[in-house]
Amino acid sequence: MTKEKFGEKITFMPDATRGAVRFLTSNQLKETGTKNVVVNTLHLLISPGPDKIEELGGIHEFMNWHEGYMLSDSGGFQVFSLLHSKEWEGKIDRDGATFKSPREGKIYTLTPESSIEIQMKLGTDILVALDDCRDAQIERKEAEESVHRTLEWAQRALAHFEKLGGRKQGKLISCVVQGANYLDLREYCAKELSKMNFDGYNFGGYVVNDKGKLVLEEMKVVIQNTPKGKFKYAMGVGKPQDIIEAAKLGYTVFDTVLVTRNARHGTLYSFDKEDYMLRIKNARYSSDLAPIDSSCDCEACKNHSRAYIHHMIRIGEATGMTLATIHNLMFYQRLVEKLNRV
Ligand SMILES: [Zn+2]
Repeated sequence: MTKEKFGEKITFMPDATRGAVRFLTSNQLKETGTKNVVVNTLHLLISPGPDKIEELGGIHEFMNWHEGYMLSDSGGFQVFSLLHSKEWEGKIDRDGATFKSPREGKIYTLTPESSIEIQMKLGTDILVALDDCRDAQIERKEAEESVHRTLEWAQRALAHFEKLGGRKQGKLISCVVQGANYLDLREYCAKELSKMNFDGYNFGGYVVNDKGKLVLEEMKVVIQNTPKGKFKYAMGVGKPQDIIEAAKLGYTVFDTVLVTRNARHGTLYSFDKEDYMLRIKNARYSSDLAPIDSSCDCEACKNHSRAYIHHMIRIGEATGMTLATIHNLMFYQRLVEKLNRV
């Protein structure tokens, strides 16, 4: 298999959080045209654990996924949001986070070094340096603190990545630009990170404002102040329209849990709709014999009607969720294919 350079073309990566895209087999995932996927470091750290995955030959082997690249996040976003919201017990300091897993009560630490170590053991191709992410709306002082810590951690993560031989093994490492909605902080963070030898620059923090609009100005500043020729990853973006907007700015790497989560809850995507949205649970689809999308040839659209999917999702049938997930992923892969043709 010849892989294209990661991020050269626009790519959408579904979240295979725990080593699977929910409700799909690896084979079904392949049929949606998906190449690259994201796995979640925190979830895999807790179960089955990085040592186990390493022992089993790494996450590519474990999941039997050889279509493209696998990217692991740093685990920071989940840990920090769980700790900030007090859902999980633990503390965050200059070194990283220490937390207790509610499932088995085990104590874990996540530092810039340990996050890289876990990702190396998982055997992913693209790693992310741990960053200090905070809540959506924060005061300037807190945003400054998050930027300083993010820069310090980025350096530590990069040094550890080199030490463990990540570069020699052909792996890539990206960093996260913080700064909340303060444009000068975003600029400063982007410029400082650009002095370090990262392969990609990720837009971190919250990507939509309190009105649900994409934070385009902040995203633009990050593009303008990071090196050309390195991939730009808009983490967690997003809705089809948001991907179109962010791609115009120069972002080429996308992932969002929305696509698959929405599928399971009956929000489907269709090029037949002006806003691309089709809420399949709506009563009007109960006798609709048309496919979800007349231009789609996924398993759901080729073989089943809107009425059938409507019924399956309404009763919470797993088969319906599988079909809806296949369709939504295929929609996103078709969307980025269209964007790559422009
Ligand atoms: Zn379809």
